[in-house]
Amino acid sequence: MSRSVYNFAPGPAMLPRPVMDRLRSEVLDFEGLGAAAFEISHTSPPFKRLLAETEEMLRELMAIPPDYKVIFCHGGATMQFSMVPLNLMQRRPAGRGLYVESGDFARRAIEEGGRYGPIRVVASSATERYAKVPTIPPEALDLAASYLHVTVNNTLIGTQMKEIPDTGDLPLVGDVTSEILSRSLDVRRFGVLYAGAQKNLGVSGMSVAVIREDLLGHAFPYTPNLLNWKTLADTGSLANTIHTFAVYAMHRVLEWTREQGGVAALSRVNEQKAALLYEVLDTSDFYVPLAHPEHRSMLNVSFTLADETLLPTFLNEALAEGLYALKGHKVVGGLRASIYNAMPLEGVQALAQFMTGFVRRHG
Ligand code: PMP
Repeated sequence: MSRSVYNFAPGPAMLPRPVMDRLRSEVLDFEGLGAAAFEISHTSPPFKRLLAETEEMLRELMAIPPDYKVIFCHGGATMQFSMVPLNLMQRRPAGRGLYVESGDFARRAIEEGGRYGPIRVVASSATERYAKVPTIPPEALDLAASYLHVTVNNTLIGTQMKEIPDTGDLPLVGDVTSEILSRSLDVRRFGVLYAGAQKNLGVSGMSVAVIREDLLGHAFPYTPNLLNWKTLADTGSLANTIHTFAVYAMHRVLEWTREQGGVAALSRVNEQKAALLYEVLDTSDFYVPLAHPEHRSMLNVSFTLADETLLPTFLNEALAEGLYALKGHKVVGGLRASIYNAMPLEGVQALAQFMTGFVRRHG
């Protein structure tokens, strides 16, 4: 059976077709064991090898320096909204968390941070409905603070930080959930990076965090053991039963990522895909892009129709053409095409063609 749609879902998002084929073919027999990778002990040698290889590939693909730990955490990216303050806020005496409010997930991280101690929002684009990534004023980089949290790609509205700021000795914490492995990022710019796995890394329910070693060991004493980055670093992420299926899927996705030529090669295709869609959006008043032109995301292209009464027709006709999950997030409305690494160029070409045809038919 072949897949009949191009899936533009924002996450959980489509996995590369060869990965899906591989998962299917391996499900009853992982590496000749006669069992699936997620039916064997998480501490067995084959699983530990899988986990070690997953970390190794991620290190290679992201060029993670040796003084950074890689940990696999339960609970998705939202759990990191809690783990960041729990593990970092106390790094400085009377330290506070600084936050950039660039979108809805940033706002949720801020709300969660505020549960554990003092926080300050140093820049916000809330009054512009997050259409821009706010600039961080230099005076906001307070070295008495514990960390500065940014969302590097804002999944709902579709904006992206083009340059990662240099925050010097103030640890920068980056939520890269919806852009990890889509372009080269200098890990050294960050004290901590984290990403939920369900976009460019596999399936939902787990996140990966990349943490500079000196930022481990500062957790509040009441931090639950499983939310303590150091516990996970010290146990090789095996403080309890790890999310075995998510690790296995990530391993296969990272192998595929490597086969594509790694981040540099995928980044070139991602640029091409995004350019195709933005070009269609910019050539007609029929479409209204939602992100400011200088802040547009390469991964989440959000837009609406000048005549919003046509939105249901757009979605129905798109689906009839095999273009799936283009409805915008309910907070933002309109439409959104999420075009992560696994979305082939042909899928985006099909969408661009459909959009051009839709203007001809309804414009
Ligand atoms: N941050 C960003 C930027 C996201 O896009 C998402 C999910 N779409 C999250 C955090 C939350 O991830 P999760 O559902 O895995 O907790």
